[in-house]
Amino acid sequence: MVGYVYNASMSRKRATPASSSLTDSSAGSGPGRDSAAKVVLRQGRARPLWFGHPWVYANAVDRVEGAAEVGCVVTLLDHDGRFIGRGIYNSRSQIPVRLLTRIDEPIDAAFFVRRLRAAQALRLALALPSAQTTAYRLVNSEGDGLPGLVLDVFGDAAAYQVSTLGMALWRQEFVSAIAEVLAPATVYEVAAGGFAEVEGFAAETRVAAGETRQRVACLEDGIRLEVEPLQGQKTGLFLDQRPSRMRVGQLVAAAPKKFCRVLDCYAYAGGFSLQAARAGAGEVTAVDSSARAVVRIEAHAQANTAHIRAVEADAFRFLETATPHSYDLVVIDPPKFARARKDLEAATKGYERLNALALAVCAPGAILVTSSCSQNIGPVEFERILAAAARQAGREVRIIERQGPGPDHPLPPGFGEGQYLKVLFAYVV
Ligand code: SAH
Repeated sequence: MVGYVYNASMSRKRATPASSSLTDSSAGSGPGRDSAAKVVLRQGRARPLWFGHPWVYANAVDRVEGAAEVGCVVTLLDHDGRFIGRGIYNSRSQIPVRLLTRIDEPIDAAFFVRRLRAAQALRLALALPSAQTTAYRLVNSEGDGLPGLVLDVFGDAAAYQVSTLGMALWRQEFVSAIAEVLAPATVYEVAAGGFAEVEGFAAETRVAAGETRQRVACLEDGIRLEVEPLQGQKTGLFLDQRPSRMRVGQLVAAAPKKFCRVLDCYAYAGGFSLQAARAGAGEVTAVDSSARAVVRIEAHAQANTAHIRAVEADAFRFLETATPHSYDLVVIDPPKFARARKDLEAATKGYERLNALALAVCAPGAILVTSSCSQNIGPVEFERILAAAARQAGREVRIIERQGPGPDHPLPPGFGEGQYLKVLFAYVV
């Protein structure tokens, strides 16, 4: 769940009238898609939207004027009738309007092409893709003005996930836009677990366009990876952790002694392990509970001539039975523990226990790299969790660095709902 950047330069221009054949054929106003309906906000509830927030919560809506079907595009007005923008509507959602644009423009095939080009311009400014890195996020939902859509590029392929019904109705247009702007050999659709049921649309994991392939090759910081969007988790890779993976490589390279023992828990494709191995770690152990992930880690190790011991195990069990003080760098990158607010207490306890176990296997002077991707747990709360874990483990820690998703995961300022990933680098005394 991520955010929207209001990019004035890209959105001031009005859409050119239906001129390309792409625009002609899709028209962008099919039943249940674009509409003349207006959503009017309550008095005093427009302020966050004027300041760049991309969502309207249900309790901010005063009334709906005209026929607004679930999933259609509506016009958003403040209580005095001032135009705020146009967005995707879903009366059944807690967030009935998600803004697509802040100018009065039609939503059509050309709109998606413009959005993709703007997203591409941002990545080009970050030197993505580069000779070293061909795996990156091209569309980060609200952060690229396309709420409900993420699009990751893996070499000559792209994989997208849709999380709202309204965006699902525009599949054909954005798949065409992807072909026009990026021309990938394969476009994958990956079902985003849970969202389809909640929002009420059909999602499947499939090849949406181009050549059918199980695996695609790409590079991250010069490391060779193979992605399987049809079989994997997320879109195929967890691209958000690239900066932290690279940082681990730098820390291992800088380690005073060459013999740096690294433990990578929740390793998935082995990205942290591969960085550590390349940087000269003496010993690298990658742990994941998924058999498929372990096979992938082994394949990646071979492709990069790296020595990695891949272990199929539950991370808690592994840590419980590991020798205390036996690692110099430990990475913890678990899946979301807190899915909803009601899980918060159990999740907090889970993170505390996991981090305490990780600290117990840290040698004095080791570095712990610990992550949480639960949006419900804020950055300060996560530091408190680490403090509680240190107390539990009877260890002292110093935070030396805070990381988050890489710059190819942009967000609108002030959109806290889009901030989910927190990574703490801690020195363990
Ligand atoms: N660190 C990875 C991303 C991790 S995603 C990277 O940089 O790419 C989370 C991973 O945790 C998944 O691969 C999943 O298979 C694994 N996982 C989930 N539950 C687990 C458990 N109980 N023990 C170990 N691994 C687990």
